Amino acid sequence: MASDRPEDHYDRVTAAWRYLLGENLHWGVFDADDEPLTVATDRLTSRMAEHGRLADAPGLRVLDVGCGIGTPALHLAATYDAVVTGITISQQGVDLARRKAAASPVGQRVTFLKADAQDNGLPAASFDRAWVMESSHLMPDKPAMIAECARTLAPGGRLVLCDLVHGRPLTQRDVLSRAKAFNLLRLAFGRAVMAPLDAYAGWCEAAGLVVDDRVDLGAAALPTLDRWEENARDHAAAVIDLIGAQGHADFAASCAVLRDLFREGLLSYALITAHKPD
Ligand code: SAH
Repeated sequence: MASDRPEDHYDRVTAAWRYLLGENLHWGVFDADDEPLTVATDRLTSRMAEHGRLADAPGLRVLDVGCGIGTPALHLAATYDAVVTGITISQQGVDLARRKAAASPVGQRVTFLKADAQDNGLPAASFDRAWVMESSHLMPDKPAMIAECARTLAPGGRLVLCDLVHGRPLTQRDVLSRAKAFNLLRLAFGRAVMAPLDAYAGWCEAAGLVVDDRVDLGAAALPTLDRWEENARDHAAAVIDLIGAQGHADFAASCAVLRDLFREGLLSYALITAHKPD
C-alpha cells in the first residue's frame, strides 16, 4: 500500500483533488443544497474569517496552519488585507501555492513554507491570528499543534479552527463495527484522527487560550459530498490518469461512507475560536 502519511498522501493526491475538491481543499457550507461547490467552500472561508475576526484591522499577521495550495491564504490577503504565512507539510502544496501567489496581485502579502505545524519553528508572539482550516485531523499530536499556535500568537491574538470532528466520543465497538469504512477513508483521505469538539476546547485551554465560541456546521456541510461525487463522475478520466482507477473508486466510495457517518451522528463539521489573553 502507498504511504498514508499526510505529507506523502498530499504530495500524491493534490493534482487530482483540484478536480475533485477544487482550489479550496476543504468542505463547503451550503445555504441551499444545490449551490455550486465553490460558493460553499468560499462561504466556509468567510464564516471562519467572521469568527476569527479577520476584519478587525488591516494588515493582521496570519499563520495559516496546513495551507493546502494557498487558496484561503490568498483570499485573506485580498479580502482583509492580511499578511499571511502559510505552512504545510507537503512540498507539492508549497510549490503550487507559491505558483498561485506569483500569479496573484496580492502575492506579495503571502509566504509559503514547508513546516510541521506540531513544531513549526516560527518565532514566538509573531502572529495576530492562527488559522487552522481542515488540517488538524491530519495531525497526530493536536495538543502540540494548538500549543504551537498559542506560542506563536501575540497576546490578544486569536485562533480559529474548523475541521471534521466526532459527533460523540467513539467506542471500541463503533470502530470495530466500521473497520471497513474507516479503512476506506484512510485510503482516500490519508491517515487521519478525528476528535470531538470538546477535546479541541480542552487543548485550547491547556495551551492558555480562552475559548470564545463553538459552532456545529454539520448539516450545512453535508451537501459537499454530493458535489464531490459529481466531480468524481464529471472528471473521472482526468482523476484516473492522476491517481489510478482504484484511487478514483476509493474516493467515490468514501463519499458514501462519510455521508453515513454524518447521518449516524458519528461525524460532523465544526468551528471553534479562542484567544490568547493580553
Ligand atoms: N487549509 C487548506 C488545506 C486543507 S487540506 C484549505 O482549506 O484549502 C490539509 C492541509 O494540511 C494540507 O495542506 C496538508 O499538507 C496539511 N498538513 C497535514 N499535516 C500537517 C502538518 N503536520 N503540518 C502542517 N501541515 C499539515
